[in-house]
Amino acid sequence: MVYSAPRGTKDIFGEEAKIRHFLDTKAREIFARWNYQEISTPIFEEVNLFTRSVGETTDIVEKEMYVFKDKRERLLALRPEGTAPVVRAAIENALISPGKISKFFYSGPFYRYERPQAGRQREFYQIGVEFFGSVSPYADFEVLSLAVEYFHNLGLKEYNLFLNNLGCPNCRPEYRKALKDYLVQLPHSPTATSQLCADCQRRIEKNPLRVLDCKIDSKNIHGRIPLIKDYVCESCNKHFQELLALLTENKISYQIDPYLVRGIDYYTRTIFEFKNSVPGSNAGLERFSSGSQDTFAAGGRYDNLVKELGGEDIPAVGWAIGVERLIKQLSKEFISQELRAKSQEQLIYLATIGEKARKEGLKIVQTLRGAGFTVETGLYEEKSLKAQMREADGLKAKYVLILGEDELNRKVTTLRDMQTKEQKEIKLDNLPSELKKI
Ligand SMILES: [Zn+2]
Ligand SMILES: [Zn+2]
Repeated sequence: MVYSAPRGTKDIFGEEAKIRHFLDTKAREIFARWNYQEISTPIFEEVNLFTRSVGETTDIVEKEMYVFKDKRERLLALRPEGTAPVVRAAIENALISPGKISKFFYSGPFYRYERPQAGRQREFYQIGVEFFGSVSPYADFEVLSLAVEYFHNLGLKEYNLFLNNLGCPNCRPEYRKALKDYLVQLPHSPTATSQLCADCQRRIEKNPLRVLDCKIDSKNIHGRIPLIKDYVCESCNKHFQELLALLTENKISYQIDPYLVRGIDYYTRTIFEFKNSVPGSNAGLERFSSGSQDTFAAGGRYDNLVKELGGEDIPAVGWAIGVERLIKQLSKEFISQELRAKSQEQLIYLATIGEKARKEGLKIVQTLRGAGFTVETGLYEEKSLKAQMREADGLKAKYVLILGEDELNRKVTTLRDMQTKEQKEIKLDNLPSELKKI
């Protein structure tokens, strides 16, 4: 019987494992400087957490969640996104309170039952941040500039930041009504060009905003549909304008996408997406459909979610980066350069000749690894020196230490530089400090 990984999942190893490690390390380095604290939440949560926060009529909840019952009939879901669990954890562990700034980051796997394609897996990884405790556009600016800083550190230059203002519970109902009125009067006969897809017809009642980012209908209705920017209240508009001014002053370029809604209910006011940009294309004029593959990071403000999930009145803003999608955006040259610089630790290979040297060699390997050297050895199997040198070559070892009976008797080992082919003897006493000198 041969087994394969479940559809939409993949094994991560080799070069990709190194790239992911690099992305994670870089993120932690930068998040630490910006004073974000790490938080890890369980892989599964109560289903209701997501139904309540992400929204009943969203694609995530309607179609994409992995839901299962445990042996006590508890209804659980593999986490499809990171914000609701972080909010749940922040409330449960009293990590947030009104008027206090609390900042978190997370990194880990998430699960959605979607049709797998390049950059879209059923098990996917996200790195995300959440900023609690401020209604100010300065908080929106901080998380956006943090993302920009991270991308900069990854050598990522070709991307666009799209923003929109989703309004608040004071102004959005009026927009929803206008939108619904507009959608309802569209001809619904199967031959009419402006007929909405079955999903959207169903959504008109409960979640008309989703029609804006429907992959099927968006092309037909854009340009004629009522836009939220004409409905947002004074204070939502002020918040958005202040954020835009901060971005401009700090030279973070952006474009406004009036159709951007994001497929999640908890957002209020600012929402944004980072998308790849093909140099030379008029990406600014031609709108990408939301949620499409070229979005590699997204987020927004969610001022009511903490309250909604049983906490106090604490505003928040955050984003998540899709790691698989981010990797697709990165320059191979830049990353391999960074990885080379990182792999400063140079592999030492210990080759032994004869049983006595093999026994002694094992001790040397232990000592060197304990002293911080990266060491591989050929002593697991009995092998000729030639075979061991071939192996060392294949591993791209920087140095080979050769230990035979003769060397052992004289308490030395031969060090061979695999590039220059130079050889010299080193005393076995104090080998780690001798090697450190080299
Ligand atoms: Zn408003
Ligand atoms: Zn539709």
